[in-house]
Amino acid sequence: YHTLRFILGDQLNAAHSWFKEQDQGVLYVIAELHPEATYVKHHIQKLCAFFLAMETFANELMAAGHQVHYLTLDDTKDHTLDSLIFSIVAQEKIQTIELMRPDEHRVLMQYKHLFEHAKQPVTLFDTEHFLLPFEDIPLYFKPQHSVRMENFYRKMRQRFNILMDSDAQPEGGKWNYDSDNRNKLKAQDLNAIPAPLCFQYNVQHLLERIERHHIASIGNPQISLLWPVSQQDALVLLAYFCEHLLPNFGRFQDAMTDKTPHSWSLYHSRLSFALNAKLISPKQVINAAIAAYQENNAIDIAQIEGFVRQILGWREYVRGMYWINMPDYQEQNALEAHRDLPHYFWHGQTKMKCLASAIGQSLDYAYAHHIQRLMVTGNFCMLTEIEPQQVDEWYLGIYIDALEWVELPNTRGMSQFADGGWIASKPYAASGSYMQKMSDYCSDCHYKVKEKTSEASCPLNSLYWRFMVKHRERLATNPRIGMIYGNWDKQNDAQKHAVLQRAEWCLDNIESL
Ligand code: FAD
Repeated sequence: YHTLRFILGDQLNAAHSWFKEQDQGVLYVIAELHPEATYVKHHIQKLCAFFLAMETFANELMAAGHQVHYLTLDDTKDHTLDSLIFSIVAQEKIQTIELMRPDEHRVLMQYKHLFEHAKQPVTLFDTEHFLLPFEDIPLYFKPQHSVRMENFYRKMRQRFNILMDSDAQPEGGKWNYDSDNRNKLKAQDLNAIPAPLCFQYNVQHLLERIERHHIASIGNPQISLLWPVSQQDALVLLAYFCEHLLPNFGRFQDAMTDKTPHSWSLYHSRLSFALNAKLISPKQVINAAIAAYQENNAIDIAQIEGFVRQILGWREYVRGMYWINMPDYQEQNALEAHRDLPHYFWHGQTKMKCLASAIGQSLDYAYAHHIQRLMVTGNFCMLTEIEPQQVDEWYLGIYIDALEWVELPNTRGMSQFADGGWIASKPYAASGSYMQKMSDYCSDCHYKVKEKTSEASCPLNSLYWRFMVKHRERLATNPRIGMIYGNWDKQNDAQKHAVLQRAEWCLDNIESL
């Protein structure tokens, strides 16, 4: 072999120009690596999904006539990424090393080391996945500066001519249909929720391998893996989404319930793993969804716009924010939060129904939807001042789609406000009334959502006010928040004292909530 092309576990892009031609002198290597499996404690479904997707991809490349080595944990044992590459280069007398740009800063640092120490020329290729070219990130983002997603998203709509009319106006006349997308699921809506399409791969051999290598994980090992592991699977999941879920995607995108067997998935696409592993591209997903919208009258503009916004807007936006601010981003702790993550994040046993549901389904499926991540677990961690490092570790480990470039801005920025507002225009702080508005969790919760100070009161109510009062100086001038303080000021001193006292009790007894 004259050339080594190394493919990371999240670079499984079958449409990449590398694979257009076969060259018997090019060796492709895909490898399970100990450091990648252990840099954080991952959910067992996530470990299995990545390993099986990598193995499937290797097999597909081989079937297409490429030269591929798939290395398992047994083969790579004590190797790091660069030590493995160096050893293959020496063994195979490789003359050129070719890599794709990593999406995580941690991996980029390893590649930098490789660049500095390799005797052969090393070339970095684009992954040919994102819509926005990497080089263009500085055109839209500035380090340590707030950039609003909405502004960025509109520019992307224009730049890529997506959902735009012929006269360059947003299709339907509005850029944003968010206000149509905040419906609660009522009792009569529950039976109509479609079952999620789940794959069933037998991963016994992977579970054994993971155990043999003493790789610690989160969640219960299950013989079958329900996530897509190939481009073909991703296309099937995408088609299922467009037909059955997209017609109600926007409408119920913020809703939460635990009253049906499909509560964990609702109308969400669950395409994030396939997208992040690059089994499928954002353009493919957007095109398929827009084609479905054009053909199916049951899909209105609010549904398609809501979906396109997530992928063309949020997903590309957090990538820009990540790269423009790394490595600084991972150090941010603007609200100076230092409490430890409570133990129930690891088993879900808390009397707070909202938390128990969101954590429980995350442990079961390695999945929770956006509002559960932001407004249930995220909000709780922010109100109780959990150290962002620990919050990040939990999110980075537990979710099927968690890769640092997308996890970090969402968690530290969006959910914890630890960047002081680069991403979010205000902290996403909520009391029990939000939970009651958007979910049916409160109806059979141990705590009473209407009460603020009693022993039975929903902890979120007092914690919310404690948070708002504590950060008043920072928040009072924020036009999206300032008026809330009027409600606080209307209360007499005894009422205020009782609320703050209840909040302190909740914090002192956080492990037993
Ligand atoms: P859908 O609701 O069907 O949305 C469609 C697609 O839009 C998703 O697949 C995803 O690719 C994209 N998307 C939607 N929202 C976002 C967002 N805020 N940022 C980036 N892409 C988005 N997403 C990840 O992919 N990996 C993570 O590690 C991750 N961590 C998160 C942590 C927190 C605290 C929060 C609040 C959000 C996080 N998200 C993360 C974003 C979002 O929650 C998930 O992308 C989404 O829940 C995945 O499920 P889905 O595919 O069913 O999404």
